[in-house]
Amino acid sequence: MKKNEIIAIYGENPLEMTKKLMAVAEVEKLIGGKNKHIGIKPNLVLASPASGGATTHPEIAAGIIEYLRDNGFSDIVILEGSWVGDRTQEAFRVCGYTELAKKYGVRLIDLQKDTFKQYDCKGVPIGICDEAMRVEFMFNLPVLKGHCQTLVTGALKNGKGLIPNSEKRRFHSMGLHKPIAHLNTRLRNDFIIVDGICGDLDFEEGGNPVVMNRMFAALDPVLCDSYICELMGYSPKEVPYITMAAELGVGSLYGSDSVASELNRPEGIVKSIRSGRKVERLVKHTDARSACSACYGSLIHALARLENMGELENIKIPICIGQGFREKTGEIGVGNCTCGFRRSLKGCPPSAKDMLDFIIGETGKRQ
Ligand code: SF4
Repeated sequence: MKKNEIIAIYGENPLEMTKKLMAVAEVEKLIGGKNKHIGIKPNLVLASPASGGATTHPEIAAGIIEYLRDNGFSDIVILEGSWVGDRTQEAFRVCGYTELAKKYGVRLIDLQKDTFKQYDCKGVPIGICDEAMRVEFMFNLPVLKGHCQTLVTGALKNGKGLIPNSEKRRFHSMGLHKPIAHLNTRLRNDFIIVDGICGDLDFEEGGNPVVMNRMFAALDPVLCDSYICELMGYSPKEVPYITMAAELGVGSLYGSDSVASELNRPEGIVKSIRSGRKVERLVKHTDARSACSACYGSLIHALARLENMGELENIKIPICIGQGFREKTGEIGVGNCTCGFRRSLKGCPPSAKDMLDFIIGETGKRQ
């Protein structure tokens, strides 16, 4: 497989699809020495099964392990650090990785508990977990899904699980895009498999899975993510971390030099997929400044519930959220960052349920 290639496969059996993609790409040749320390990085942003559209199907990790074992590789670990507000151990258990690790005898590494060091990521110092930097060949397994702050998530953003929680918070205070792009100047992205089985095309944390029954492989995270944009009807320019990463030399944007092939395509399945852009309607009711993912995701979910209840239009002024409101005053906000506001909901982050109750209470429209 070459750096400018994307290889897609369609089907309903992620384990067999993974092995097929790896065989076609001749991954054993890409890895090289049989003694390499191999890491598998799924997206377990929170404790929710893959069927909900937020996390990577464990069958993909199983397919990688089986392929590697069949080809004589044995030093394999699975590593992840869930988002701030969820415990990785719980995500491992709920998402089926604890069971998988037991079955195959591989080690699970909770990066929320790991030590870390600072690295110069092309001019931006970023703390990266030690276990992530020990890996000599990294499988990156993002979910093909939407995101309420960055529109899409893919390979580049999945690297955020390899940094400590303190850095995740700092990323949001830095505006997400720039640090994500710079982080990827140091991370390994040796083989990427995108889980497009049933991602949520609007919400990073899932809840509205869209069955797409596809996966694809890539070697270049910039190519991968700009291809996801292409599939979802966005321009890479709408997702600044992708173009920033390209400018930093992390990889190349999907374009006329790229080669996208398909190993199969069952009749009736169309290539492109589209977000309902529901989030864009909800975002209009927020004023977000450097909000953490879990916090903002909960607010968007609370607003979605309000929309379903027909009460969204009762919100007359935007709900403020994010680290940019620390030590500021204002009218209404959620999260400890807005504690100086006249009406503020405590929590770091507060739950979506608490946000819903708070907003309903404050707008005084409970029916
Ligand atoms: S309250 Fe502030 S620091 Fe805490 S999760 Fe929300 S945005 Fe982040």
